[in-house]
Amino acid sequence: MASEQVKNSAFDTEAASCLVKELRHTVLAGKTKSYEWRVSQLKGLLKMVEERDKQICDALFSDLSKPEMEAFIHEIVLVKNSLKVSLKKLKEWMKPEKVKTKLGTFPSSAEIVPEPLGVVLVISAWNYPFLLSVDPIIGAIAAGNAVVLKPSEVAPAMSSLLKKLLEEYLDNSAVKIVEGGVSETSTLLEQKWDKIFYTGNGRVARVVMAAAAKNLTPVVLELGGKSPVVVDSDVDLTVTARRIIGGKWACNNGQACVAPDYILTTKQFAPLLIDSIKRELLKFYGSDPLNSPDMSRVVNSNHFSRLSKLLDDDKISGKIVHGGQTDKSELKIAPTIVLDAEEDSLIMNEEIFGPVLLIVTIDRIEDGIDFINSRSKPLAAYIFTNKKQLKEDFVSNISAGAIVINDISLHLMVDTLPFGGVGESGMGAYHGKFSFDAFTHKKAVLRRSFLGDAPARYPPYTAGKLRL
Ligand code: NAD
Repeated sequence: MASEQVKNSAFDTEAASCLVKELRHTVLAGKTKSYEWRVSQLKGLLKMVEERDKQICDALFSDLSKPEMEAFIHEIVLVKNSLKVSLKKLKEWMKPEKVKTKLGTFPSSAEIVPEPLGVVLVISAWNYPFLLSVDPIIGAIAAGNAVVLKPSEVAPAMSSLLKKLLEEYLDNSAVKIVEGGVSETSTLLEQKWDKIFYTGNGRVARVVMAAAAKNLTPVVLELGGKSPVVVDSDVDLTVTARRIIGGKWACNNGQACVAPDYILTTKQFAPLLIDSIKRELLKFYGSDPLNSPDMSRVVNSNHFSRLSKLLDDDKISGKIVHGGQTDKSELKIAPTIVLDAEEDSLIMNEEIFGPVLLIVTIDRIEDGIDFINSRSKPLAAYIFTNKKQLKEDFVSNISAGAIVINDISLHLMVDTLPFGGVGESGMGAYHGKFSFDAFTHKKAVLRRSFLGDAPARYPPYTAGKLRL
């Protein structure tokens, strides 16, 4: 296993300041603004993904034991799709949008001109370390910005691969990669940026936002939280169980921001649902899931201890109804289900972000909405039901980054939908055109000639003018 520490000892405030100066120079020279430059960089990224997919998979395996299939579907294919959409639509996105004017400005015309923000910082997280680094860069480049990427030190193999590959395939005068952890990120945050795009947890997001506030820098914060799944009793049980497993254990072993954190279902239905999940888990991962090649491991020993603490909590004693086996030396935890943990247990209050699924029983399925609303706004909220009214109530009464009905996580494949949180789960959004917009200033332009110079708008302000 590669070391968790990625340290960049030469990176101090002076180095950071030089780096930003160089990028600002590139931007001010107008290099990143042209359509041709943007396309050349996006094509460079596409070439990189196509030529180096094996190395990308290897780094994901080294950092997370991520199965090759997941590496492809969840990281490589999503990045390729983002690139293809951006290349196809870029001309259209860059076009100024003509808008209507008012009688009071006649004769005039108006347009909204998309303009690059300048020099932007992308700080990414470890769980999808390729996707979460490259996808925001696609938006930043498409929008005509220079960019610094700070990959996560918690995925060191991907961090160093990204440095190597991005330097090889992209224009180094406009795209830079700074490896490192808290120290390097803090140094970067002292600089003045035109946007900071941060993916990670809410505690660090507050540090990022406080640093950004000093320079009035806008931020996108892609955070997480406890994403709930309401499961009604009228569902197709097998399909529901398979989709829950698909979105939980088959997505980086639960280490995914949109993974189901807890299920809300009725007391009567819970045993049927649990049996069905157990049955499908057995089919997917066999009777010895700790040794299944189809499941990622826990990323490192810190996260392993964090998850072990959730399971060792006295407040959930006797509540583990499935799994619970661990292998510390291999950083593996079997798919585990906890039923009806106490309200003040750790697992009820902290984001799980790992292979443990919590089930909370409620009296009536409709109570699920109040339960979710009594907590922080989640990044995603899911419901499995056939009831039309329940679906409508869920959509109109739950505030979440996204809502998916009868499936898990698939919304992030739909590039016409914004991907982002609300409240504690974040602010701002990206994917498809939303990525371009996240790194663009929409400049208002009003054009007039010297005609139509109405005297009524100028002093002296006579009573007659007031009545016009
Ligand atoms: P992490 O540990 O990789 O940290 C994220 C980034 O913050 C890293 O680049 C790291 O170097 C930097 N960082 C850490 N501490 C810092 C500090 N004190 N000051 C400045 N920078 C610092 O990732 P994580 O936070 O463990 O990520 C998991 C969290 O991210 C979960 O809450 C998850 O739900 C969320 N997440 C959200 C999304 C999304 O798209 N919304 C995606 C992935 C993860």
